[in-house]
Amino acid sequence: MKKRRRFLSLVAGAMASSFLLSGCLGNPPSRSGRPVAEPIPLNAQAAAQLETGTVSLGFLPILEAAPLVIGVEKGFFAKHGLDVKLAKQSSWSAARDNLVLGSAGGGIEGGQWQLPMPQMISEGAITNGKKVPMVVLAMLMSQGNGIAAANTVRDGNLSLDLRSSSPGFFQRFSQKEGRKFRASYSFPRANQDLWVRYWLAANGVNPNKDVELLTVPAPETLQGMRNGTMEAFSTGDPWPSRIEQQDLGYLAATTAQIWKVHPEEYLALRSDWVDKHPKATLALLKGLIEAQMWLDKPENKAEAAELLSTRKWFNVPPDLLEQSLKGQYQLGAKAASVNDPKMGPLYWSSDRGVISYPYKSLTLWFLIESLRWKFYPGVVDTVAEARALNERVVRDDLWLRAAKELGLPAKDIPTSSSRGKEVFFDGTVYDPSNPEAYLNSLRIKG
Ligand code: CA
Repeated sequence: MKKRRRFLSLVAGAMASSFLLSGCLGNPPSRSGRPVAEPIPLNAQAAAQLETGTVSLGFLPILEAAPLVIGVEKGFFAKHGLDVKLAKQSSWSAARDNLVLGSAGGGIEGGQWQLPMPQMISEGAITNGKKVPMVVLAMLMSQGNGIAAANTVRDGNLSLDLRSSSPGFFQRFSQKEGRKFRASYSFPRANQDLWVRYWLAANGVNPNKDVELLTVPAPETLQGMRNGTMEAFSTGDPWPSRIEQQDLGYLAATTAQIWKVHPEEYLALRSDWVDKHPKATLALLKGLIEAQMWLDKPENKAEAAELLSTRKWFNVPPDLLEQSLKGQYQLGAKAASVNDPKMGPLYWSSDRGVISYPYKSLTLWFLIESLRWKFYPGVVDTVAEARALNERVVRDDLWLRAAKELGLPAKDIPTSSSRGKEVFFDGTVYDPSNPEAYLNSLRIKG
């Protein structure tokens, strides 16, 4: 019996490896029949010009990582001579720990980050005091995140505007359940925490008092949503679509509704690697920019979904990814169909400037919002400290050089590091030239 089971697993293993092998040899038909084009081969001449031929970067299997994966799969990094090795990270804290190790210690040199993780790793604020200076090089994606709510609160009809959809909901929930409404995210004091806080506070709900916010790994959150111990999950695509598809809950609000064309996750690397490898850094940025341009084209969405769906990358059905990439959602407790690419993940172009460029006005917001909630006392306590840290960590000069060397048209090369005033769904204005006014205008703070 034992032998037979072992034999079967060997056969299964051989089948799996032959499948993987055929996936590496050129241009096989894809699982779904979607066309998958040949990748661009490594440019040996370009590689010879670089200080190093390779870089190890981390990613998490959410759509923010798509430009890195597409850069590898389509050969955009190879075109500029760089062999980018992507390592899937089991969690944000694992990514942080691997960054501290660096590739010399078996870790990574950088990759995909929620903000302000790179700033706080630089300051030692989330690494037990160990300062590992990092630089932010580009924005990976805008939008494509949301607040998913459990079926157990479908009656609550949670939506963007809670004042009209769900007045008094959180007080009633606490009275009825004998505990507060619980919402989770997979890493504290960064993007997903900030989005759920912004949404609640703008609706008059105090995230520090009226609800319980928790750091919980995604699988445990889904289990909690299933068994009634967790009510909401602030997360990135394709999780909200998976929750909807698995009938665990519904999409209460998208982050695109909260703040149109908002900054989401970023590419950031260790400063020591960037300083030692300036040409390879530019090659990395050029490949990334080209991957982002490719990803934003409507005709490439199906192929992107196919490439991202494999076990090596996201291990999610391609149809689900294609819907998310196209901005197709079922929104709200009544599952209204939304089909609007402008409200889905954006990688390159928008009516609010170039997505990839790391506008300092946007990276600053994460530090201002950290001030609002008093997230990092002793590290960022004033607007002046936030500005100084932002200036130290964001290297938009490298992005601009890469864009110029690529020969991008003038319209695609920003001329200011500020995107100007930002307006949130509740009418609140963030003017990056006057963050104090923004902070003063907020009624609920930490
Ligand atoms: Ca995210």
